[in-house]
Amino acid sequence: VNVPDPVPGRTDGSRQWFERAKESLAGGVSSSARLTSTGPDPYPLYLVGGSGARVRDVDGNTYVDYLAGYGSAVLGHADRQLAEALGAVLAAGTMFGTCNTVEVELAELIREMVPCAELVRFANSGSEAVQGAVRAARGYTGRSKVLKFEGHYHGWSDTLAVSNRPDVAEAGPYGAPRSVPHSAGIPAGVVGDVVVCPWNDPGALRAVLDAHRGELAAVVCEPIVANNACTMPAPGYLALLREECTARGIVLVFDEVCTGFRTGPGGAQALFGVVPDLAVYAKALGGGLPIAAFAGRREVMEPVAEGRVKHGGTYNASPLSATASLVTLRRLNRPDTVKHIEESGRRIMEAVRRAARDRGVPCAVQGVGAMFQVVFTADGEPTRHYRDLLRSDQARHHAFRHELLRRGIHVNAYGMACWFVSAAVTEDDLDETCEAVEGAFRTL
Ligand code: PLP
Repeated sequence: VNVPDPVPGRTDGSRQWFERAKESLAGGVSSSARLTSTGPDPYPLYLVGGSGARVRDVDGNTYVDYLAGYGSAVLGHADRQLAEALGAVLAAGTMFGTCNTVEVELAELIREMVPCAELVRFANSGSEAVQGAVRAARGYTGRSKVLKFEGHYHGWSDTLAVSNRPDVAEAGPYGAPRSVPHSAGIPAGVVGDVVVCPWNDPGALRAVLDAHRGELAAVVCEPIVANNACTMPAPGYLALLREECTARGIVLVFDEVCTGFRTGPGGAQALFGVVPDLAVYAKALGGGLPIAAFAGRREVMEPVAEGRVKHGGTYNASPLSATASLVTLRRLNRPDTVKHIEESGRRIMEAVRRAARDRGVPCAVQGVGAMFQVVFTADGEPTRHYRDLLRSDQARHHAFRHELLRRGIHVNAYGMACWFVSAAVTEDDLDETCEAVEGAFRTL
């Protein structure tokens, strides 16, 4: 759906920067998710600064920000404590390439916070850490196939870039979807090792597991599907995954890149009380700097510890990223931080529900306070899986998002993604957000 300028007449600077960018950056961007040819806007906003929960674009407009660096700026922007800690690292030297003391303290803290984490390895991005977890699972089990769920996203590397947003015509029937590569350039052999299953459907899960008996190294999922508008797991579904994986000797991997540390110190596994064998972290882990991790049960991580399963990276746990992470996690490990994030998000979710009710607009507000999405389903019921989301009114979501933007609220451009709430959000930010929500619904 192509809609008019993000904020008509007020974002010309962003438009001009994008024209210039197209001359030298492939597609004018640094990530395919920001391409305008496949996205909802004619040009992106160029953000140049931020403070707390607010950001400022190149034209001087300010917004309350719920993109929050795709969830990574969990403490908000230009956090003072973080800036001071990073300033000290900058002055002391940022890159030695050896082991460092901060990575040890950080791993110890992660072990304390995360139920499954007995051993930890650091990487730089979620995609890399997913690759590490999948290789560890393959090395541990000696099997090569991996089961993922239709619509779930696990990064851009070949490993699991299958059926992220497939065309239904290509993917086939809901109950038994085909594996569809997410990109040109992914070898058929790689796609052939990825088995795809619909989410939240116990019968379909058992059928797929039976059909691939003895072949599967891992089952990988987003416990709250951030990339499917925060679709929640059906009651008992994560426990069923745990049970089936244990019974069949399959490594259960939670991709907690979005949920990790944001939905509480122990992430989704603590929230739902289901402990996977391995978990993957990025985004909130770094508080805005590039760091990621895979972590899990000692036995499953042992091949990595021994060096039989290889995992590398020049910048892994560099002093700058590891320090950002340590400062961030210490804050997120405090009950008041988590409570503030969760309650702030709940307040916005309630404001959306109230506005929708008042205007008689059917929509689902799904997720948790820390991460949620507004989905315009025909009956107002939450989505259960990717196919439900495809049937929702995407055009209405785009209109809603633009009305918010005009009222100074910045959220992810994609209705399949979600709102991320930061710890820096204030009462004023929330008042302004709830007012904007009401205003936006009056136009729908
Ligand atoms: N897993 C999930 C659930 C994600 O949302 C993302 C990124 O959005 C990734 C993995 C990949 O992380 P990165 O972009 O840091 O490579």
